[in-house]
Amino acid sequence: MTSQIFPQLDIPQTLAAGPGPGNTDARVLQAFARAGVADHMQGDVLRGMIECKLMLRQIWGTRNTYTFAVAGTGWSALDTMFSAVMPGDKVVAFVNGTFSGIDALTLRIKAATPSELAASPLDPQAASVTVIEVPHGQSVTAETIEAALAEHKPKWAFMAHWETGSGRINDLRGFSDACERHGVMGLVDAVSSLGVENFAIDDFPGVAGWAACPQKGLCCLPLTYAPVSFTDAYIASLKATGAYTYVHNPIFEARHWGIVDDRDVEKGTYHRTHSGYAVAAFHEALRLTLQEGLARRSDAYRRHEKVLRDAVTEMGCEVTSDMSSLVVLNLPADLAGREMELVQNCRARGFGIWPTLSAPVQVRIGILNQLDREAVSTIVRLFADAIRELGGNVDHAAVEALLESRYGTSIAA
Ligand SMILES: *Cc1c(COP(=O)(O)O)cnc(C)c1O
Repeated sequence: MTSQIFPQLDIPQTLAAGPGPGNTDARVLQAFARAGVADHMQGDVLRGMIECKLMLRQIWGTRNTYTFAVAGTGWSALDTMFSAVMPGDKVVAFVNGTFSGIDALTLRIKAATPSELAASPLDPQAASVTVIEVPHGQSVTAETIEAALAEHKPKWAFMAHWETGSGRINDLRGFSDACERHGVMGLVDAVSSLGVENFAIDDFPGVAGWAACPQKGLCCLPLTYAPVSFTDAYIASLKATGAYTYVHNPIFEARHWGIVDDRDVEKGTYHRTHSGYAVAAFHEALRLTLQEGLARRSDAYRRHEKVLRDAVTEMGCEVTSDMSSLVVLNLPADLAGREMELVQNCRARGFGIWPTLSAPVQVRIGILNQLDREAVSTIVRLFADAIRELGGNVDHAAVEALLESRYGTSIAA
């Protein structure tokens, strides 16, 4: 084989205007680059991890001792959360899009018996897992949840809080209440909602496990930490059954964050090699979130999403989502079927919007960490250009008038 050294890799600056990752905050990047070389048992790295844990509990509104973060991405946190699900465990999973679909696959893998896994290793049909499919574009409702939990009485129930695939918010209150009523331990994929929506874990006592990610609401893409939180009931179940993993066992993983034997201790103990760069970046992202305040930030998302939603509606698109960080839409009727072409045109110009990843094909435009007039106006104008480029009709003056009327006075910030 001939050896080959490639030129240095240059990655351009693009506008990350999709479902995530979002625009990493400049403060986070600075913290990443400013950190010195230090090993994972150095005092300030360990102190930083303890401080992250304490800030995370505030942001997430919880007294759960087992609140910390898992090195990696959202799936790392989700894998950790699902680690207590054992072969044969009875599970009900609600699926209304791409991500909850993958979560349900994970649950089928974890809950499959050895023979079920052997029969279909990549897509096991676990008899103990009931998957309730809710059509794309719709939310999971309290009635659906109640009916399924009453019928199946599982050990675990799963739902995504915000399903990023279709941009739909599911009924977390209904989920938690139904889990409490039926003595079920709820597991929630909060990857898209943490850091965007203002909610507190402890208001949802039916939920035993939570998993999130660094790069969406927390504005922290440099591969860092995916938050998780577990109630005592979850940990008790995990202690009773064990889990088929070392690295993603919440009890083991928590030790490096200074949680040992169900208590906070002063100093973490070795679980795996953590990066001082990543700890510094994550720490800054959490500080930023607390300084802005979740109430203020979630209000800003609502206001700016409304502007984007109304602007694309003015262009003839139909919005089917209700998340505040993301707009999922159908193109005007005369452009139907050309969604991929439009998205590819935009991406080729560094305007990083997305299609849906499962049927039906729709366009997704996100505003993660783009919460000001200039950023949202830029997104609106680039999208209008893309529609025009395909031969669609956009009333330029009407779109500009809409932006001016929304931003000219009241919500300039
Ligand atoms: C983004 C996302 C994931 C996957 O997260 P990664 O960080 O890509 O691992 C899972 N669930 C939901 C709801 C998401 O939005």
